[in-house]
Amino acid sequence: MPFSALSHLACSATGKRYDADTVQGVSDEGKPLLARYDLDQVATAVTPREIAARPPTLWRYHEVLPVRDEANIVSLGEGMTPLIPIPSYGRKIGLPGLLMKDEGLLPTGTFKARGAAVGVSRAAELGVKGVAMPTNGNAGAAWAAYAARAGLKSLIAMPVDAPAITRAECVVAGAELYLVDGLIGDAGRLVSGAVRSRSDYQEVSTLREPYRVEGKKTMGYEIAEQLGWRLPDVIVYPAGGGVGLIGIYKAIVEMQALGWIGPDLPRLVAVQADGCAPIVRAFESGATESEPFPDAHTVAFGITVPKALGDFLVLDAVRSTDGTAISVSDEELLAEQRTMAVAEGTFICPEGAACLAAARQLREAGWLAGGDSVVVLNTGMGLKYPQVVSVDVPTLSIDSAIPAESAR
Ligand SMILES: *Cc1c(COP(=O)(O)O)cnc(C)c1O
Repeated sequence: MPFSALSHLACSATGKRYDADTVQGVSDEGKPLLARYDLDQVATAVTPREIAARPPTLWRYHEVLPVRDEANIVSLGEGMTPLIPIPSYGRKIGLPGLLMKDEGLLPTGTFKARGAAVGVSRAAELGVKGVAMPTNGNAGAAWAAYAARAGLKSLIAMPVDAPAITRAECVVAGAELYLVDGLIGDAGRLVSGAVRSRSDYQEVSTLREPYRVEGKKTMGYEIAEQLGWRLPDVIVYPAGGGVGLIGIYKAIVEMQALGWIGPDLPRLVAVQADGCAPIVRAFESGATESEPFPDAHTVAFGITVPKALGDFLVLDAVRSTDGTAISVSDEELLAEQRTMAVAEGTFICPEGAACLAAARQLREAGWLAGGDSVVVLNTGMGLKYPQVVSVDVPTLSIDSAIPAESAR
């Protein structure tokens, strides 16, 4: 059994085959390419029991990841994030069995590390010398870090409004960084222009290269493994470009083909912010694709994606699993972020908090039952967004802070 069972790439819209061992972007139709594996070979060669004995990183699933030679893995220890019960918070919203997969503990503080680890490793394996991407901040920070670790160059463009820490993360890792007065689509146009003259750079925008989604799909493998090779009733995910949700669904289909899980599908929920909800609108109107969302704006910056290349795949994953798409307001998600930290001691990111606000609403509406097993993804740490919490406390002089009696 080779290290990876990667066989080819397939167009996500037409199924047409593409070679997996050259640098590829999108299909001839401009749609994302997805990696395909010889799953029969994997099923006969590996068992979940063997996987359980491997180191706790996402590379434990290496047969269904695209890197062919173990020596080409670029790792900062990513993967196997905790799946923690959040019972105090869960009781408040009528879901006492609620679980949270905490991706905030990954290198660079968000789940973007998964896509970057696998994407950078595979790009380097195929001979790419530099990676270029538009980002809402976190992906750029992660790809800059992994590119540095791999000895690759990186060119990152992000909106000037992206979380400030992500700029510092790019700069400290030696990335060539551009700030754009606009949204992620504007940053994308800048990047496309810049790479045209640099033949050894690969453009690695969301779903414009095939392997980021492979890294993100490991969330699905981990959730199943952590639950004893079962899936919960519902998985709630904050969707921007939707790569994580597309990846989780891909993982589920693969695990079923491998015989590692049973036939039941979890209902997948795509959560967006009221200020940028193109996929929710498309879901509600019955459309198979989204329309560009006008004047997109939300504090959950990672999900400010007005038009996603993979929107049709997100909608398909949600509909195929009897799931739903729902948006929440910034006020609701910010309130949830605090309620969560008070109840459980964990400072989650606004995107993760959006999932909690959605879970609350879906429970109130009866879409979720109290006994449903529900996993919410917290996609990043709150520490990356210090500005969203207003700290309104007085500054005291030391004399007035210490009561007179104790100062005696
Ligand atoms: C990028 C990002 C998301 C959205 O991820 P997609 O794969 O684009 O759907 C959610 N949360 C955080 C913290 C992010 O950085």
